[in-house]
Amino acid sequence: MKRRKFLATGSVWGATSVIAKGAEDLKPKKLVPGATTSPMVISTWDFGVRANKKAIEVLATGGTALDAVQQGVMVVESDPTVTSVGYGGLPNAAGVVELDASIMDGSDLECGAVAGLSGFENPISVARKVMEETPHVLIVGSGARQFALSKGFQERDLLTEQSRKAWQAWRANQKEKRQIDDHDTIGMVAVDQRGQMAAACTTSGLAWKIPGRVGDSPLVGHGLYCDSDVGGAAATGIGEEIVKVCGSYQVVEYMRQGVHPQDAVKRVLQRVLDRQPDKPDRWVGFVALRRDGEVGYASTNTGFQVAVADLASSRLIVAASLR
Ligand code: ASP
Repeated sequence: MKRRKFLATGSVWGATSVIAKGAEDLKPKKLVPGATTSPMVISTWDFGVRANKKAIEVLATGGTALDAVQQGVMVVESDPTVTSVGYGGLPNAAGVVELDASIMDGSDLECGAVAGLSGFENPISVARKVMEETPHVLIVGSGARQFALSKGFQERDLLTEQSRKAWQAWRANQKEKRQIDDHDTIGMVAVDQRGQMAAACTTSGLAWKIPGRVGDSPLVGHGLYCDSDVGGAAATGIGEEIVKVCGSYQVVEYMRQGVHPQDAVKRVLQRVLDRQPDKPDRWVGFVALRRDGEVGYASTNTGFQVAVADLASSRLIVAASLR
């Protein structure tokens, strides 16, 4: 995570009720044909505001949550100024941009992902093809590249002048070799008018990572999880820590048990902290959206920003941290 200036101050705990609803309230509901829900989207970081705008455009015209999260995160993937996602993302130690992405349809738990994919600006769209046009869930590396080509995706150089220079500077400075503080993911969860939900997660991972390193983002249950009967969650931060606690799955499972999304996020973060007290820089954050529109968001360390939008409003919130 890059150090970011707070745009505002405030405590999530203060702003959001952490009262657990009874599990009875979360029993799977049959969707009534024609019934409508108020569409809503939550995503990670300040670039989430732009992603949410696109997602809300999709949702406002009756689009699906799946289309909304895909098109929303694509805005960030295609933005060369974002150095931790898609085009313009910082490369691995060998100077190659390797992208990880996953998408999940909460209506039927279908999901798709790619990992270590080089040369394609929108890995989330390749992940969706994996979900919809193969019997598989995750395709990696050269196989993912071949798959993307076979589906007609155009290859492009993902390094920008800025990211190439940053890599050259890092390589020239051996003492920075172990630095992994440059990373962030766009994770998004949405609910559409029909009450269906979806999540997407996409990143270039940790800057200067060992080639082939895969984080949490393309791993369903870790970087994201979504079940329209309950809600969805997405993660950002050090993937190695998120994977150890099956982070996003665990947030959703707490919600399934009736725990409020805010408390669900807090419980999983606390587990991360309890198991790594001697690693204060191992940063993790989650966003969560319950199917009724209740949200949760927090991080282990300070500096996490969360974007929340519905048809009427868009907010960027500074999330509370546990330490
Ligand atoms: N979770 C991402 C990874 O470990 C990085 C991040 O979100 O900061 O690849």
